[in-house]
Amino acid sequence: MRKIVAGLTKKQVEKELSELKDQLNEYRNAYYTKDAPLVEDNVYDNLYNRLLEIENEYPDLVTPDSPSQLVGDVTDDKLGKVTHDIPMLSMGDVFSYEELQEYDNRIVKNVGSPVDYNVELKIDGLAISLIYENGKLVEGSTRGDGTTGENVTANIMTIGSIPKQLPQPLNIEVRGECFMSKKEFLRINEEREKEGQQVFANPRNAAAGSLRQLDPQITADRKLDAFMYTIVTFDTLNVSTQSQALQTLEKLGFMVNETAKVSKGLEVVNEYIEKYEINRDNLDYGIDGVVLKVNDLETQQQLGNTVKVPRWEIAYKFPPEQSETVVREVTWTVGRTGVLTPTAVMDPVSLAGTTVSRATLHNIDMIRQKDVRLLDTVLLHKAGDIIPEVSQVVLSKRPKDSVELEIPTHCPSCGSELVHLEDEVAIRCINPKCPAQVKEQLTHFASRNAMNIDGLGPKIIEQLFSKKLIKDVADLYKLDEEILSQLDGFKEKSINNLLNAIENSKTNSVERLIFGLGIQHVGLKAATLLSEEFGSLDNIIAAPSEDILAVNTIGGTIVNSLKTYFANKDVLILIDEIKNAGVNTEFIDTSNSNETNEHFTDKIVVITGTLNSYKRSELADKLKHMGAKVTGSVTKKTDILIAGEKAGSKLTKAQDLGIQIIDEATLSTYLEDVDK
Ligand code: NAD
Repeated sequence: MRKIVAGLTKKQVEKELSELKDQLNEYRNAYYTKDAPLVEDNVYDNLYNRLLEIENEYPDLVTPDSPSQLVGDVTDDKLGKVTHDIPMLSMGDVFSYEELQEYDNRIVKNVGSPVDYNVELKIDGLAISLIYENGKLVEGSTRGDGTTGENVTANIMTIGSIPKQLPQPLNIEVRGECFMSKKEFLRINEEREKEGQQVFANPRNAAAGSLRQLDPQITADRKLDAFMYTIVTFDTLNVSTQSQALQTLEKLGFMVNETAKVSKGLEVVNEYIEKYEINRDNLDYGIDGVVLKVNDLETQQQLGNTVKVPRWEIAYKFPPEQSETVVREVTWTVGRTGVLTPTAVMDPVSLAGTTVSRATLHNIDMIRQKDVRLLDTVLLHKAGDIIPEVSQVVLSKRPKDSVELEIPTHCPSCGSELVHLEDEVAIRCINPKCPAQVKEQLTHFASRNAMNIDGLGPKIIEQLFSKKLIKDVADLYKLDEEILSQLDGFKEKSINNLLNAIENSKTNSVERLIFGLGIQHVGLKAATLLSEEFGSLDNIIAAPSEDILAVNTIGGTIVNSLKTYFANKDVLILIDEIKNAGVNTEFIDTSNSNETNEHFTDKIVVITGTLNSYKRSELADKLKHMGAKVTGSVTKKTDILIAGEKAGSKLTKAQDLGIQIIDEATLSTYLEDVDK
């Protein structure tokens, strides 16, 4: 229960305020600087609101170092600094319709008449500012403390949806939200968990952690996106409202969130909030609320800013979606790199639209921090609206017979003693021959983006392994009819199919092999850049660090990882075996045949409406060449809807399903972003 301020002595208030400041500053540091929050946002928000309550009552106690006076937090010096001529501010927030009504009343009183609001989604990412000179992108930065941000230009350049060149030679500054899609958030967290690193708590932290990298290739591998929503300097652009600003941004080739709506007063605000509160799980990006902006830019100017927030905009924050359940068991699995991941098995419970009975506990640090025990009642939430996670234990419901979790000391797969490396949050099995790890490595090697050995999934690998028919990836190339006939249910057809798929994989371009080897930090994109540059695996192994560093966007982390990997004698023996089996280790340049395009490759795309510059069939062919699957109807699986003029029911369906919709102008800019 929140204590009222009035009943406290000034001394008590001062003490509480000082404790609140310390606590909030600790949380802010973890959140903004380390991109690793210590508590849920609603815990932070409650403390912050208590601080505001006290400061409102005792304005003389407000100090310049209070979190109520500060935007963001310190910046990372290593990235270099950028001064924002026009500060990048934070945003006021409310948590109920009543508070929203009060906000509107204040605006009407201040302006002297009702206003229109542009209502937008509050994207769960981090603010960025982009500067264009003569239409060319010259600088990208983070918000930092509002006045001084971090220079992340090299990283921003790796984001496909940010145009590097505008269609007009404008000198403008635009701002928006850099974010990570939920799909990518899931992928990165899985990868980080496997590598024994701390997982990101939500897409916001994942986006910030990925953008604030010293090595741009890591940013590039993480696939960030950006919705732009503000024009700061207009140059010759003729714009008088926020809704026009969004349209102009879109015309200039920026990705703009298409859900925005103009509302007369609060007329459609409730409807908008309800729609997206219910449908937020269906969107491909995280949102944490809705933003109302006074639509008229001149009125915005009149209203101005406080030291921390603009008066002309306010965020309505969604309440956290949580459910309670009881933890019955904790299981531990061993991943590709030997990291052990604990999973809580719980009584099934409905949470934000799905039934949940398992939640990852990520690592032992998190188990200790949250003090989760067997038979504990826990509160669950979905991190980034997707991954069920334990928020906290409900201590008031802890039964007397709750059992502290036993942290394993030996690998559940091979029995080797586990290690807890100093700079990691995970415990790890370091036995390179550990069956669980080898099986995961084999599955990764055969996967679609690696060697793409069709039909070689985890179940067959499990059989091959348990029957001692293979021990490492080189053994895959020794499989023959006789060996495969020992597998359950394997007849002539399945044997031939698998042998053909293995044989075909020998002709892959070398980047697939490099990615398939599972070298830490080396994703498919980095593997491709290296292969293009050096031409062969041998050349990459022999390349001096400086030469690798000179490859555009490859940084020190990847170089160190490559050097450590190829210094291992066992690795070199394995590579020799793979080569002797006839696997190609050279780069095959396919730039003249099939292009890849980061927006469309591997995506399911639907085309609808009238397009002015493209013939439907030719566009479909072009997209297919880029590796997209072009289908006729919009379903949950659709990734992108290309909507031309007069688009009808497909457009409505895609909007309802929260599918990415692009118009012809965006299509044109996307098609220009050819990867290779
Ligand atoms: P904020 O994130 O609540 O709101 C401001 C930001 O919203 C802008 O800077 C911009 O990046 C973003 N935004 C998204 N969509 C937008 C749109 N359509 N138009 C304009 N802006 C848009 O404010 P903040 O100051 O960055 O952070 C405060 C919030 O951060 C708190 O409410 C709290 O939930 C969270 N926080 C949490 C912790 C923690 O420990 N969990 C610590 C500090 C802060």
